[in-house]
Formats: sequence, structure tokens, C-alpha cells
Amino acid sequence: MEKKIIVAGLGHGGIAAAALLAKEGFSVTVYEKKKEGTLGYDWTDIFAPKSLGIAGLDMPPEDKFEYKKDMTFFGPHTKKGLQQHVPEEQLEIKMERRDIYDHLIKHAVECGVNIEYECEVLGPVILGNRVVGIETSKGTFYADLVIDACGMNSPVRRNLPDVFEIEKEVSRHDKITIYRAFYNKASDEEVDAKFKVMLLVDGITGVSWIASEDEHTDVLIGRFEDYDLDEANRFTELLRKDHPRIGTEIVRGGQFVDIPVRQPLSILVADGYAAIGDSAFMTVPVIGSGIANALKASRMLADAVIADKHCEFSAETLWNYQVSYFKNLGSGMAPLACAKLLLLKLKPEEVDYIIDSGMITEDDITMGANFTSLSGQIKLDPRDLVNKAKLVCKDPELLKKLVACGASMGKVVAACAMMPKKWNKDRVRAWAKVYRYSFK
Ligand SMILES: Cc1cc2nc3c(=O)[nH]c(=O)nc-3n(C[C@H](O)[C@H](O)[C@H](O)COP(=O)(O)OP(=O)(O)OC[C@H]3O[C@@H](n4cnc5c(N)ncnc54)[C@H](O)[C@@H]3O)c2cc1C
Repeated sequence: MEKKIIVAGLGHGGIAAAALLAKEGFSVTVYEKKKEGTLGYDWTDIFAPKSLGIAGLDMPPEDKFEYKKDMTFFGPHTKKGLQQHVPEEQLEIKMERRDIYDHLIKHAVECGVNIEYECEVLGPVILGNRVVGIETSKGTFYADLVIDACGMNSPVRRNLPDVFEIEKEVSRHDKITIYRAFYNKASDEEVDAKFKVMLLVDGITGVSWIASEDEHTDVLIGRFEDYDLDEANRFTELLRKDHPRIGTEIVRGGQFVDIPVRQPLSILVADGYAAIGDSAFMTVPVIGSGIANALKASRMLADAVIADKHCEFSAETLWNYQVSYFKNLGSGMAPLACAKLLLLKLKPEEVDYIIDSGMITEDDITMGANFTSLSGQIKLDPRDLVNKAKLVCKDPELLKKLVACGASMGKVVAACAMMPKKWNKDRVRAWAKVYRYSFK
């Protein structure tokens, strides 16, 4: 009998996995709460185009994307920024979010995926210790496998039984609240850096960017704390003082959204269940990019499902997906969560010193850009590390913070390396505890 797969939520990784599995002959239905044609946001996203090929998609039409400009990173008071010099073959593309969705959905429908719009997923249906379906606003639906692509606050993941030991909630420091608006161009003044990323501006723990486009200026404010529209407006006004190009009229966007910026879930699978994309916290911690990782994960998940010849879709057979994800991506992402925790502890003057002293160089920043590629792994040069250590030693307080961060990164790397390669309930749960504890 044809095996049924449900994808809860039309997340990027979920719809890409749906296409790969429908092509293999599975009956796949996606349940999405929004109306057809209203998905995404009124803005552009940046992601590695190779991820489309990995997920079995063609490149979008040429008029639908452009290559991203190099970013330049600034501390709260640094005058000279650190600019990336990303090689051409590693350049990410910039594309309207709605066009990304159109591209993914068109492909999935051609592969035979059914999409049920305006259907809100309320939670999982559990029988024994297995996920056997979903409760929705349009009734209960059963399947042999539920793929959870409902995003960070997924009602499927959050309502799983405690016995699965899958983390449910996201702490305040594990998500960044973004306000993003595109302002009219108020002056023709040349800018020093077209894509400026700024850390801890105004002493506030967070990341902001100002991207100067031909027609407008794209302002993004990201913070690890709650704030409101009045505060977003005050902060934009502050940015305007040094960036007169930012006009006062919002031409696009003007919305608040949360992005997860934490380590990947410790356990991605259970009997009848697999999480992907933001519901599994696959974004790059600190910067929050998650499209490429979700697309790459879709291939790993589809491979594990297809390899399960008896269609058990148990935690044991789906564990291959988790092993593959951590081997290729997760074990690189997880230590970056420690870097994010460090950022939360740094003082503005320490960030300035790190940038001004040369402790972080343009090469480091460029390597960071490579972290979204499947083969991209940061390679550290020991001589370079010694030079950096000498600079850090001049500031004992900063040294203490960096040593603590380095130690926790070491623990996380070791934990990832210890992940069981084969499913064994007790061993996996013991391992997950160690992995989670290494971020404390
Ligand atoms: C402001 C902003 C800018 C970003 N910029 C970038 C970028 O430039 N590059 C990049 O790589 N990433 C970026 N990201 C992150 C990126 O959007 C996500 O990591 C990526 O989309 C993967 O998330 P997802 O598709 O799994 O989940 P989501 O994007 O959250 O999608 C979940 C889907 O499930 C649906 N859904 C949710 N709940 C329910 C429910 N109860 N029932 C039914 N359906 C439901 C939602 O409507 C949505 O369609 C950005 C995010 C934000 C918020």
C-alpha cells in the first residue's frame, strides 16, 4: 500500500523534502495555515544557491535573483569595518522570499505533492509512543510519518510527549527579535560600505544591518530582548544621524519576527516523526540564516526515509537523518551557539577591541560566510591562533570570557563527536543530556 507522509507547515525544508519523497512515489500532503499566495514576507533573503541543487531543484530564473554584496562588520564605535571578500563561486544569492516560495512550491506540485492551505496544525496525534498523525483546524489526519516544518514555535514539537525528550520551548536568549523595514532613499550620498553589519550599537546586545540599495535602504534591527515599535523608531533615528541616506518613509516591510539562534535540537526524530528547518533550530546561530541548511537537510531526511525499505519510519531508521545532519552541518553550527552566548556577555568596548586590534581579521569574516556551504568548515591556523592569543592576553577580563567560550566550544565539539552512530534509546538519551548540558 502507498505510504502516507504528512508535512506539517510549509517550511522551506519541509516542502523540499516533500518534493523529493513524492518523486519516489510516497503520498505526501503539506498542511499550511496561511492562504495560498500569501506565504513569506515582503522582503529579500540571502542564501547559498548550491543548497537548491542539493535539494533537487534547479536554479531560479535569472531575473529572480542577484548575487549578494560582501558584508562589512563594525563594532559599536569602530570607524573601519572588516569586509568580507567572498570568492565568486561561494557567493550567496539574494531573492524575494515570495519568489523563493513560488520556486519551491511549483517544483513540489510538479513532483506530485498535495498542499492543503488555510489548515492550521494544532498538535500531533500520538498512539502508544508513536506520532501517527496531526490534529488540525480541518480535522484529524493520519500518516506513516509526520515531518515537522512548522517553524520555531511548532505546535507539533511543543506538544510531543515528554518521554521523547525533544526540547519544546525556546528561551529568550535562543531567539533574536528582528524588526526590518525598507526606507526611501533620503540622499544620494555615497556610502562607505554598502552592506554594513553592526554589533552592539548603542550598547544594546544585538546585531543590526544597513544595506544601501539603489532605490531604498534596508534596515534590520536584531535584539536578544523584547522591544516595541517606539524603540525600533528611536533606534532607526539614531542610525539616521550617521546614515543620512535612510529616509523616514517605509516603502516595504516594517514587521517584527523572531528567528531561532541556538544549537540544533538534540534529538530530531522519534517514532513516526522528524523535525526540519526552524522547528529543529537549523539556523546559523548569531546570524540566523536557515534557508540553505533547511534545504540541505531535506536531502538528508529524504535519503533516510527512502533507505528505510520496510517503511518503519521509526526513531531507529530516521536516526540516520540525524547522524547525517550533525556530520555535515549540525556539528559546525552547534559551537557557533557558544559564540552567540559570548556575544551576550561582551561589553561594547570589548567588541571594538576585538575588531580594532586585529584579533578578528577580514579572512576570518570571509571564512564565516562559508559556513552555510555543505563542505564549508572553518580551518584554523595555529600560528594565527597564537597571535590572537597574545592580543587577548592584554585584557584579562576579555581573556576570561574568551577562554570560557573556547572551553564550552570544545565541550560541544566533543559532544557532537560522541553522538551514537546507531540508534539505541538509552544511549541516545544519555548522549542528548551531555550535548544539552555542554551549552549551560
Ligand atoms: C526577518 C527574517 C529574515 C531572515 N533572513 C534570512 C536570510 O536572509 N537567509 C536565510 O537563510 N534565512 C533567513 N531567515 C531565516 C529563515 O527564514 C528560516 O530559517 C527558514 O525559513 C527556515 O525556516 P522554516 O521554513 O523551517 O520555518 P518558517 O519559515 O517559520 O516556516 C514555517 C511554515 O509553517 C507554517 N506554520 C507555522 N505554524 C503553523 C501551524 N500551526 N499550522 C500550519 N502551518 C503553520 C508557517 O505559516 C510557515 O509557512 C530570516 C528569518 C527572518 C524572520
